[in-house]
Amino acid sequence: HGTEEQKEKYLPKIAKGELEFCMALTEPDAGTNTLAIKTRAVKDGDEWVINGNKIWISGADRAKGMLIIARTTPLEKAPKKTFGISLFLADLPNKAVKVNPIPKHGINYSKSCEVSFNDLRLPENALIPPIDEGWYLLLDTLNPERMSFTTAAIGISRLAVKKAVEYSKQRKVFADPIGSYQGLQFPIAEAFATLECAKLMNFKAAWLFDKGASYREVGAVANIAKAVAVEAGIKAVYWAMQVFGGYGYAREYDVERWWREINLIRLAPVTQQMALNYIAEHVLGFPKSYR
Ligand SMILES: Cc1cc2nc3c(=O)[nH]c(=O)nc-3n(C[C@H](O)[C@H](O)[C@H](O)COP(=O)(O)OP(=O)(O)OC[C@H]3O[C@@H](n4cnc5c(N)ncnc54)[C@H](O)[C@@H]3O)c2cc1C
Repeated sequence: HGTEEQKEKYLPKIAKGELEFCMALTEPDAGTNTLAIKTRAVKDGDEWVINGNKIWISGADRAKGMLIIARTTPLEKAPKKTFGISLFLADLPNKAVKVNPIPKHGINYSKSCEVSFNDLRLPENALIPPIDEGWYLLLDTLNPERMSFTTAAIGISRLAVKKAVEYSKQRKVFADPIGSYQGLQFPIAEAFATLECAKLMNFKAAWLFDKGASYREVGAVANIAKAVAVEAGIKAVYWAMQVFGGYGYAREYDVERWWREINLIRLAPVTQQMALNYIAEHVLGFPKSYR
């Protein structure tokens, strides 16, 4: 997606790691219910004027570019909810964009921020065409974003499993190393087995995306992988912490950090409930459970 001019300006630098970008979608009253976003982009002569508030925008404190998701047609005037959303590319910093990092539980190497747009003026060519149909373009970003977070969940959990196994083989409490107890082996083996399945499912989602499958097809597999990987990941890190006993609670052994990190993936980029809603509705054919 995007014009040739936009691709040329941004993509090579992003690919080389020379340009950090962030994505401003979530709003204080529109997280799970993305289509309820209120940030408005209005045309004024040959410029766009953007006003609104975003929240949880990761990397906004240091990014030099931002993908802004805004309404060009307000929800009440849109013929359907998915219509009226447009995507814009903004260069940062800009004095009309205020960024305020939110103190948070984990992943503190990356700041997540409140962002406000106060009459942010962008040139006409900042819009990624077509106007009002940005939602469909966005879906091609949200599915890979889901896959990359699933990969993160699997990575964190595999590391936790590896470290737990190593530690359990050398830690003796009674006569034998604690790693010899099935009470510790079974839950870790179970979580690991599920993670391996989720990994394959995530590869399948990436393969479908690469071969140009529809966002629905990709979404089905990506959401299954995400839902399963996160549950198994939480279990894996939980049991890694258990293996480390009291030391699992100490900063020094990293397990408590992995615990904080894996729990983010329950909530972002999509919550577990919304991943399950997708499977229920679009894979199993249940009626949509929310309005
Ligand atoms: C650290 C962090 C980084 C983030 N980075 C970004 C970013 O870079 N860019 C960006 O745009 N956003 C970002 N987000 C936002 C993230 O995508 C949202 O937090 C997430 O989508 C959930 O929205 P919410 O927080 O408003 O929760 P809410 O929408 O208020 O949901 C609250 C709870 O209700 C449940 N719920 C809601 N509706 C239903 C339903 N129909 N059925 C069942 N359960 C339901 C949800 O699953 C959730 O558990 C980030 C969030 C965090 C925490």
